[in-house]
Amino acid sequence: MSSVPAPDSASRPGGGWRFDNSYARLPAAFFSRVQPTPVSHPRVVLFNPTLANALGLDVTNLSLPSAASVFAGNELPPGADPIGQAYAGHQFGNLTRLGDGRAILLGEQVTPSGARFDIQLKGPGPTPYSRRGDGRAALGPMLREYLISEAMHALGIPTTRSLAVATTGEPVFRDEPLPGAVLTRVAASHIRVGTFVLFSALGDVDSLRLLVEHTRQRHFPNLTQHPENPALALLEGAIESQAFLIAQWMRVGFVHGVMNTDNMALSGETIDYGPCAFIDTYDPDAVFSSIDHQGRYAFGNQPSIAGWNLARFAEALIPVLHPDSAQALPLAQEAIRQFPARFTRHWLEAMRGKLGLFSEEPGDEALINDLLTALLEGRADYTHSFRSLHPDQASGPIPPDWHNRWTGRLRQQPQTREAVLHRMRAHNTAVIPRNHEVEAALDDATRRADLSRFHRLLQAVSQPYDETGQPQEFLNPPPAGTPRCTTFCGT
Ligand code: AMP
Ligand code: MG
Repeated sequence: MSSVPAPDSASRPGGGWRFDNSYARLPAAFFSRVQPTPVSHPRVVLFNPTLANALGLDVTNLSLPSAASVFAGNELPPGADPIGQAYAGHQFGNLTRLGDGRAILLGEQVTPSGARFDIQLKGPGPTPYSRRGDGRAALGPMLREYLISEAMHALGIPTTRSLAVATTGEPVFRDEPLPGAVLTRVAASHIRVGTFVLFSALGDVDSLRLLVEHTRQRHFPNLTQHPENPALALLEGAIESQAFLIAQWMRVGFVHGVMNTDNMALSGETIDYGPCAFIDTYDPDAVFSSIDHQGRYAFGNQPSIAGWNLARFAEALIPVLHPDSAQALPLAQEAIRQFPARFTRHWLEAMRGKLGLFSEEPGDEALINDLLTALLEGRADYTHSFRSLHPDQASGPIPPDWHNRWTGRLRQQPQTREAVLHRMRAHNTAVIPRNHEVEAALDDATRRADLSRFHRLLQAVSQPYDETGQPQEFLNPPPAGTPRCTTFCGT
């Protein structure tokens, strides 16, 4: 990858954009050059000044009216080289050739500290990969991605981020005409398991090898394992980062909803906030997506589906793991075999945090699972139950005999009560973007053009570990009788 010239803030053109386009320098099979389609009335309705600052963008020059044409795709930032990326993916298990059908990568912003982030428009009009789709996005789902991705970031979970939402002034046609919008997504990259799957399915081993090298340099520059075998190093790195990521989802009750292999990023970030939702009541079978009839992507299935996706990744890498496929196969199998144990290690670490445990004891896994069983049987709210867990008393759904075991376990470790409570507060979130609140906020925003409720919720989920000053409705479980929400893909 070529180096980027040193930043010179005085002469930075166009509000601090400093693009390098390493992906667009890869061979033609990796992407298609494509321009965003201009829209009639661009208007920025949401902007993330903190993220803009972190990216090195000049926020004053990016004042909302002048930014509208950039964030709606009417005008390209200086240095942009817009492309749609090619990829494939297993959608609900079935291999499909895909590509950015409604997203365009503008380029890679290099921050003042030298970090590199994809700047991608979601909903900027058709690309060569759109097939029969319109390449557009509706306002509601783009606001939803903005809100939930920023909530995940505040929860401390690796995720793509959201820089802006611009409305287009044009309708998009779904079941009914809806206001159109473009989201500016910021990601460590958009390289997916599905990108590898594409080249593997095409038998394009040269591209596969190039992609391995590009991805390894970009996301795992410090890996020292297997210097002679970059594909194996990449596979092991991805297995570890996904084990960590999924454990974090389980910690906060996040259901991704569409864990197709095209929605698993090699950066280790959560990506593609379509039908995702957070559980209220603890339930491993919880499914929110309208099209997930079999519960493939249910809350409790996420670790095993991640393992399945990583097995597809390992398979795709076979041609570059070893010149002799008979020797490549056991390398892939051995790496994949390690995923469940790696996941369990991260999950236990996260769940011990939720219980205020500092040390490791053999009985911890049973202690955790027995609490989860009690929550399931009591139809208890996951977030609220953990946040209100306290050594002084067993309240609500917490069975007294379990509470005794837990406090006995706490007494085995030397940490003070304050340290225990501090650790619990750092692992048990007070606020999650609860579905009924998200739906109400989006309803106000899209039907009444009123974003005040959205902004209140965004502010609440931006400090999720702190009750101070939080409106009570964001701390409480949904009112009794609130039906489980249904979420939708690709909307
Ligand atoms: P997703 O469910 O968002 O991961 O999308 C799966 C695939 O469908 C991706 O290749 C998208 O680019 C494509 N797609 C989804 N919605 C549209 C749309 N409105 N127009 C064109 N392509 C789309
Ligand atoms: Mg996707």
